[in-house]
Amino acid sequence: MKKLTLKDIDLKGKRLLMRVDYNVPLDENQKVSDDKRIQASLPTIRYAIEQGARIILMSHLGRPKGNIVPEMSLKPVADRLGELLGKKVHFVTDCIGPEAEKGVQDLGDGDILLLENLRFHKEEEANDSDFSKQLAKLGDLYANDAFGSAHRAHASTVGVTDYFDTCLSGFLMEKELNYLGAAVSNPERPYVAILGGAKITDKIPMIENLIEKVDQLLIGGGMAYTFFKAQGKEIGDSMLDEASLDFAGEILKSKGNKIKLPVDCLIANSFDFKLRQIGQTKVVSIDQIPKGWQGLDVGPETIKSFSSVCQNAKTIVWNGPLGVFEIETTAKGTMAIAQVLADVTGKGATTIIGGGDSASAVKKAGLSSKMSHVSTGGGASLEFLQGKELPGVVVLTDA
Ligand code: AMP
Repeated sequence: MKKLTLKDIDLKGKRLLMRVDYNVPLDENQKVSDDKRIQASLPTIRYAIEQGARIILMSHLGRPKGNIVPEMSLKPVADRLGELLGKKVHFVTDCIGPEAEKGVQDLGDGDILLLENLRFHKEEEANDSDFSKQLAKLGDLYANDAFGSAHRAHASTVGVTDYFDTCLSGFLMEKELNYLGAAVSNPERPYVAILGGAKITDKIPMIENLIEKVDQLLIGGGMAYTFFKAQGKEIGDSMLDEASLDFAGEILKSKGNKIKLPVDCLIANSFDFKLRQIGQTKVVSIDQIPKGWQGLDVGPETIKSFSSVCQNAKTIVWNGPLGVFEIETTAKGTMAIAQVLADVTGKGATTIIGGGDSASAVKKAGLSSKMSHVSTGGGASLEFLQGKELPGVVVLTDA
């Protein structure tokens, strides 16, 4: 699992072609509205600057699908990165071809160039070998610090590596692999996973993989109701993933001893997510959901029971909110668990937050810095926790 990193190679004067994840939101004035991902790349970039590398950064932004879409230009990112580094970040309007090559030629040691959005070329997502070759021409060395894109076999994450002897991992990539890798292969026990969110279907492979490894699996969120339905309970209008009913029933039968489901829930007699409108609410035991009502959050007894499991754990992986955390009335369970995880981290447990909604929830709770690791890759961390090898990781050179 250990990969060569920037620290293992002399970077001085080398053209370092590095894949980063600058898929950031832009506001109506074409300014970066959340620079978390740019911030996350700074340690690697600062190190490369200090070592005197000539840094060529490449990324995608949005889904331009092979078209030049000015609103998805990376130019605003170059500006923001420059502000954060206190240093000029050069920019070229194409990621391959004469302008990019000239931009690279003009770099001195410690200089930085950001290439325009890779996905302005459809060949990027097609993992096209000629396009990969043209990208590769720009560097002497390749590095990948974009964990969030490592589950996709694209030209900048996979194809390009055919043209380099040594493919390095950046520090962000290294951190992701260390934490997620340890959780997958060598967790300190007791090892607990908490899964929530809406659909089970997407998460079946992860449940199947984690159930074999964890000591306890806590299930909350919308997906819990499919398990209750499989147990023959009345779930009213709660979220039901019909296609996963058989799976839920079978896994409860074969591995039920490891699975802990909610014992109570917050229900509402009407709910409109888009309008953020919620009717009458009450907390009931899981056996008492009336027809016409739906479960939207875990209840206080569940929070107690989940908390006590977490208090004893040494490693906790969390993926998916325990309720509709976007709305305050139904965010309590998710926020409470975020706090518990922050507390146990303080007492020495390792806590790993999968990307996506769980990362947003922890951020909303203001507790991101209190966790051992908050993954930057939603889809990538999901696939990693399923036990899959990520194509963008496999191609990196083993240490
Ligand atoms: P996922 O993408 O599968 O991780 O699902 C995340 C979404 O699940 C979030 O938008 C939550 O609002 C939603 N969610 C969590 N719990 C529930 C629930 N009990 N009922 C409906 N939606 C839920």
